[in-house]
Amino acid sequence: MMQITQPLGFLGTVYREIRQALTDMGEMFDLLEQPTEVNDKPGARDLNVTGGQVEFDHVAFGYDAARPILKDLTLTVKPGQKVAVVGPSGAGKSTIGRLLFRFYDVTGGALRIDGQDVRDVTQDSLHQMIGVVPQDTVLFNDTVRYNIAYGRPDATEAEIVAAAKSAHIHEFIAGLPEGYDTMVGERGLKLSGGEKQRVGIARTILKNPPILLLDEATSALDTQTERDIQEALHKVGEGRTVLTIAHRLSTIADSDRIIVLEKGEIVEQGRHEELLAHNGRYAAMWQRQSAEEEEEEAA
Ligand code: ADP
Ligand code: MG
Repeated sequence: MMQITQPLGFLGTVYREIRQALTDMGEMFDLLEQPTEVNDKPGARDLNVTGGQVEFDHVAFGYDAARPILKDLTLTVKPGQKVAVVGPSGAGKSTIGRLLFRFYDVTGGALRIDGQDVRDVTQDSLHQMIGVVPQDTVLFNDTVRYNIAYGRPDATEAEIVAAAKSAHIHEFIAGLPEGYDTMVGERGLKLSGGEKQRVGIARTILKNPPILLLDEATSALDTQTERDIQEALHKVGEGRTVLTIAHRLSTIADSDRIIVLEKGEIVEQGRHEELLAHNGRYAAMWQRQSAEEEEEEAA
């Protein structure tokens, strides 16, 4: 009996380790959603960011050829500008972000950063220049410190703490029994959605990228947490080019430009006040959301 249970017990441990490793990898791939077909061109150069201008030039794209998602998207975000993309679910908003990160290549037109086609530069350099705060921040089974410093392992303690402060998460971390050494993730302390997101924001602040991509960063949070996060995001956005894939219109009303996307096409664009005055799709979405928010607050 011993001869059987011992090897099996050992295998059980190995199995759990492997399964955890696969879970971590699965999460990584979810996070990056990186298909393998996109490769660096031979002799690709590093992206040279001078101001952080993002330019979609007549971009067409579909996950498969039979079903186009983006049809002829032209959109320029000037250095330091804040542009938000809104629209119904399935319109292609997140796809815009995935193309910017070059998880997929465009099938028509071009996507350029400071005049350089993203297909001509190394993916490493591209990813270094773009900070992402995704809908769900993935935490690694490691310390809070590691999770914040991930992407900039050479960061000093002072830099990590400063980033956590800007992300409104330092006090929470300092209050944990083991502070920055606290283990988080699946096998450690479970953080709430809002806490995870602020760790993600701290990570992005530390990375200090000239371009920021925010994808529905404030969904499913209570009002106070959302306000804290909005404040933190506002700070991160200062002096950077920001493309926000928005969920709640109230958080993007002060954008330099709002793009309304429907079925992969821009149907309206302008500033919040302009779009309200225009009394079209955006105005209807705004009225619907305002009514919903009033109901929530009354409830
Ligand atoms: P949004 O963010 O506006 O809700 P997405 O950009 O995520 O929309 O998706 C646009 C369309 O592309 C949707 O119809 C969606 O089902 C489809 N889609 C998204 N990701 C994939 C994928 N990996 N493979 C195939 N179709 C996809
Ligand atoms: Mg989306």
